[in-house]
Amino acid sequence: MTSVKLIDTVAHRTEFLPFSPPAISEQEIDAVVETLRSCWITTGPKTRYFERKFSWYVNAPGALAVNSCTGALHIAVASLGLGPGDEVITTPMTFASSVNVIVHEGATPVLVDVEPDTLNIDPARVAEAITPRTRALLPVHYTGHPADMKPLLELARQHDLRIIEDAAHALPAYYEGRMVGTIGDLTAFSFYATKNLTTAEGGMLTGAEDLIEQARVWSLHGMNRDAWKRYDSNGSWYYEIVAPGFKYNMTDIQAAIGLVQLKRLEEMQTRRYAVVRQYNDAFGDMDALQTPTERANVRSAWHLYVLRLNLDKLTIDRNRFIEEMKAHNIGTSVHFIPIHLHPYYRDTFGWKPEDFPIAFREFHRLISLPLHPGLTDEDVADVVAAVKDIVERYRC
Ligand SMILES: *Cc1c(COP(=O)(O)O)cnc(C)c1O
Repeated sequence: MTSVKLIDTVAHRTEFLPFSPPAISEQEIDAVVETLRSCWITTGPKTRYFERKFSWYVNAPGALAVNSCTGALHIAVASLGLGPGDEVITTPMTFASSVNVIVHEGATPVLVDVEPDTLNIDPARVAEAITPRTRALLPVHYTGHPADMKPLLELARQHDLRIIEDAAHALPAYYEGRMVGTIGDLTAFSFYATKNLTTAEGGMLTGAEDLIEQARVWSLHGMNRDAWKRYDSNGSWYYEIVAPGFKYNMTDIQAAIGLVQLKRLEEMQTRRYAVVRQYNDAFGDMDALQTPTERANVRSAWHLYVLRLNLDKLTIDRNRFIEEMKAHNIGTSVHFIPIHLHPYYRDTFGWKPEDFPIAFREFHRLISLPLHPGLTDEDVADVVAAVKDIVERYRC
């Protein structure tokens, strides 16, 4: 990596500002210790209670707690019976696991380009990509901004398709007054360390009760009854395997963290929204930058704040911008390297960069700024000052 020479025009932070540290309080720590002292440390009463609390929170009929969003997505694909010969339409602007799980089950991922404002899957292009083999749509609510679900639901109705939503970023998010988690057939949430609610690793699948009970079987070896109860005093040693299921169950240690995080979520979100407003106010009228959109019919969960660089107004590229931010002691990231650029997908499906031109073009100008509840006003001011300093020095 080339070293970056800085002209010292603004004071630099002496301490590195991490991109997205987890917001863990003493309450989560106490809850973990309390769980370790109890006799249930794996899936048990706390996991069931967390599922109930979560389903109330998003207003979904059923919820299944698992050990990751990737696991939740995989269970969704498998339990809906998607497999060889079936096409699943999804977006290139996502994390690898949304597409990997389709491949895991032998189904065929079909990518569709994104809308330029939200970078969510474009329903008009989805309509064009549907074939007689299409069985499901897998939209991703990029950055927490819901995908345009109304036309997708309509297409699903017309063509008898299932909808699996990747809501890893979208807690809590609303689309036309409906909460994400209650819209498609199955919705997968992530509680990974960087997400809006964390259990270190974890995830949740929401949906109709019958689909969730079917998914539950797949989450624990394909056992046909409440297998976690088999070590209880009323439990039985007997079980039957009714599907070649996975081992994706959540532990009570994770659920204990999740229950506290869920209680703290509104307060943590309030801080996120305040930081977003400060960034928007600071960058809104700078012609070298494009701030993220929030359409009028949604409420974004604001998992990420993705700034777009107007590269024709700058003499440096995005990668150099990131290096300059690092030199200012500020951590940033890129969401995402589009799926079709990754070697496995490029080589297996023969996808070329220009096959999804919007995702490809926008990728080169994306930079995710720090956005988490632990940011102080001073931290935000440092990020703003760094961005402004870099833009000023490299304008053309
Ligand atoms: C984080 C993330 C996932 C994976 O979540 P895990 O809980 O780490 O499995 C899936 N999709 C998107 C869009 C993500 O950002």
